[in-house]
Amino acid sequence: MLIYRKVSQIESVLGELDSSLLREAEVVEKEYPFRCTEYYANLVMQPSLKDPVFSQFFPAIEELEGSGGEDPFGEENSTGVDGLVRRYTDRLLVISTNLCFVHCRFCMRKRNWKKSPFVFVNSAGFYQYLVEHPEIEDVIISGGDPFTLPNDVFEELLRIPKKVSSVKIIRIGTRAPVVAPEVVYEKLDILERYSPVWINTHFNHPREITPDAAKAVKALIKAGCPINNQSVLLKGVNDTFEVLARLFKGLLSIGVRPYYLFSCDPVKGTEHFFVPLEKALRIVTRLREELSGMAVPHFAVDGKNGKKILP
Ligand code: SF4
Repeated sequence: MLIYRKVSQIESVLGELDSSLLREAEVVEKEYPFRCTEYYANLVMQPSLKDPVFSQFFPAIEELEGSGGEDPFGEENSTGVDGLVRRYTDRLLVISTNLCFVHCRFCMRKRNWKKSPFVFVNSAGFYQYLVEHPEIEDVIISGGDPFTLPNDVFEELLRIPKKVSSVKIIRIGTRAPVVAPEVVYEKLDILERYSPVWINTHFNHPREITPDAAKAVKALIKAGCPINNQSVLLKGVNDTFEVLARLFKGLLSIGVRPYYLFSCDPVKGTEHFFVPLEKALRIVTRLREELSGMAVPHFAVDGKNGKKILP
């Protein structure tokens, strides 16, 4: 799989870019590094920040203008064990790595991109934490993208919660079906061994529902993985009723349940994607009125402590 790590490399897929767009992106990538798969870049129709795929991975100068915090929900050091985050009594979030296939420019954890690549392998600490907290029933393995991990580490992250009888549910958050569908096949045997492993994936635009993505989803379902989607409401990407209706109906048609639509978090460097709450509620109300219940995700805003508010 080909991953581009410099904005200028994307010209090999998209042709020559507008020089001022490229210059600005090269300034931004020094602060927030660039990363994109060849597969995902090929979904672009117009290399412009108005294109709903291009703007999800191509750096915009506004990223340097924001004023929010880098970790507004206090994820760092929330449990005293590196990589483990706790917001709810019965759930534990595992930040398994800072690596992703694509750096989504609206990411709430973009603070981690510049750190040296890390892989959460503190198996003993993870196991001990679960044993000492039997109230945790649900483990969410996130990142970064856990599908970037080598298979032995990936499996270890499933083996540990499976060993603890109080853990009833294991979930993985990944964008692999959307941005690197070929990678999904490398993990199927492991996922099948620990079935059911719930997959939370992250489609934001109907153009991302390609035959390759649908095939990867089908393979995951065959491996025993129920699949939910968590979208983020993004200005200029999917902030209309029409786009979201096509997205959610398209997801249902490939076997993915629209689960959450999140308001973009107030994280430094992402403010230009924010959709005002009144506009978001107008769109969500119309979705609720016109789509079948199955096609309408919960709309959620992250509160100050990172806990969800459902307006
Ligand atoms: S895949 Fe997820 S964690 Fe990685 S950059 Fe995108 S939103 Fe952030």
